[in-house]
Amino acid sequence: MASKAQKTAKYIFVTGGVTSSLGKGIIASSLAKLLQARGLSVTIQKFDPYLNIDPGTMNPYEHGECYVTDDGAETDLDLGHYERFLNVRTSQANNVTTGRVYHNVITAERRGDFLGKTVQVIPHITDELKRNMLLLGQTGDYDIVITEIGGCVGDIESLPFLEAVRQVKFEMEEHDTLVIHLTLIPYLNSAGELKTKPTQHSVRMLQESGIQPDILVCRSEHPLPYDIRKKIALFCNVQVNSVIEAMDADTIYAVPLLMLKERLDQRALYMLDIYNDKDVDLDSWKTFLSRLKNPMDSIRIGLVGKYVELHDAYKSIVESFIHAGAANECKVNIEWIHSESLTSDNVVEKLENLDGVLVAPGFGERGIDGKISAIQYVRENNIPFFGICLGMQMAVIEYARNVIGWENAHSVEMHHDTDHPVIHLMKDQKDVSNKGGTMRLGAYACRIKKDTLAHSIYGKTNISERHRHRYEFNNKYLKDFEEKGLIATGINTENDLVEMMELPSHPFYIGVQFHPELKSTVMNPHPLFVNFVRAALTYSLERKTVESLNPLIH
Ligand code: GLN
Repeated sequence: MASKAQKTAKYIFVTGGVTSSLGKGIIASSLAKLLQARGLSVTIQKFDPYLNIDPGTMNPYEHGECYVTDDGAETDLDLGHYERFLNVRTSQANNVTTGRVYHNVITAERRGDFLGKTVQVIPHITDELKRNMLLLGQTGDYDIVITEIGGCVGDIESLPFLEAVRQVKFEMEEHDTLVIHLTLIPYLNSAGELKTKPTQHSVRMLQESGIQPDILVCRSEHPLPYDIRKKIALFCNVQVNSVIEAMDADTIYAVPLLMLKERLDQRALYMLDIYNDKDVDLDSWKTFLSRLKNPMDSIRIGLVGKYVELHDAYKSIVESFIHAGAANECKVNIEWIHSESLTSDNVVEKLENLDGVLVAPGFGERGIDGKISAIQYVRENNIPFFGICLGMQMAVIEYARNVIGWENAHSVEMHHDTDHPVIHLMKDQKDVSNKGGTMRLGAYACRIKKDTLAHSIYGKTNISERHRHRYEFNNKYLKDFEEKGLIATGINTENDLVEMMELPSHPFYIGVQFHPELKSTVMNPHPLFVNFVRAALTYSLERKTVESLNPLIH
């Protein structure tokens, strides 16, 4: 059998300066998208400077969503952008933290790998950083590996990362590496001017670490005139066509096109000495964008969760709605509903104008009564419902209490000695005491029952979805639920774990133990979201028809 040609990777590093939150992940993803659209094989990895081994133990308020890959890595939410833009899978190797690097080095020290030596940041930590930076490139699968360096130039904790980048750049051939620095060009209203000084300082700081950036991507709220670009080029030591303007976009999905217009891809290829005269094939991307920007209808979906103050905590869900909205040519307006603010007294007022309700994943006691009230309301009023992970578990509890009549039914996560533990700890979690990386994580198979809503949505019986949980549906009660109408329609056959539940008597009521939002991409919107949005749209149109026939309903 002919073996696949091994590729020799080139490396692009993306650093950031002036301030955080400039969107390095989106710029890296957009560049990767353009290179991919030219036929190159690209992956992106993120190096984060914090000391946690991974973000899995962090509160979503700290860090936003924890994105889980197929191989069960708990990673930074930027990996979600990488997958959504590129439509390729990432893995543990795509997210490395300072914590992981120190852990590897210290474990090696204990093993005796450095016997006789003093173990130090330089060279041991930087060597381990370099080894990780080059790992994906050595698989032979990629033409280009883009490495996003988290944090900001000038942060103390970023120094070893920058030193590792400097060394990689120094040790490789001139055209095999490239550093792109993302900065901000603020506009001062009082002076009526764009200001380049913060960028000059930030580049100088990078130069102090021995790195001369090759390309500057400049975030700005206003277009960068040629004389400003020339000034930046002159004082930052780059060529003027290496100064790229990155204006604010109305959607992150428009950024690849902005970067195409600015020729970021061409500049990168030129500097990496890669000859590529292929047309950039972005046709389907543009179709998606035009559907996104020209919706025919709009719906209101309530997202019930306890971290709603920070929308990044539900990043993948929000993006999945954007993909599914475009697929339905329908604008999805998310109404953020704090689960703690919902009670059985105000649930009607808060939910009656919605076209669908999604109850979000989560952990712990806070806000669960609100989630249960929301589920009861949408179940009884035939409003489309979609529960994810904890959302499905709460649907099970709601049904047990209000339909089956087990008043105190609960999850043992919140109440250990409930009479009816309808959600209980998974068997293989019983002896787990460490919190980090010990949940049921990553992709597992699920078998879907024929002639169910789930089956009509997926159009197949064998699927694989990603997970992040410790608790599961308690099969002891399955018969009771099914007799009363809530049925299990997706099962992991290896351990009989209930993965999907639905209510056939309801127009659209589905709960899933897994996280479908982690697999929705621009090119492959997730079928559960696409169908949920469709159901909400149908519900909204039906409601409008009824209201127009009977104006007194208002
Ligand atoms: N807390 C629940 C569990 O661990 C649900 C987790 C989630 O929603 N991701 O099973």
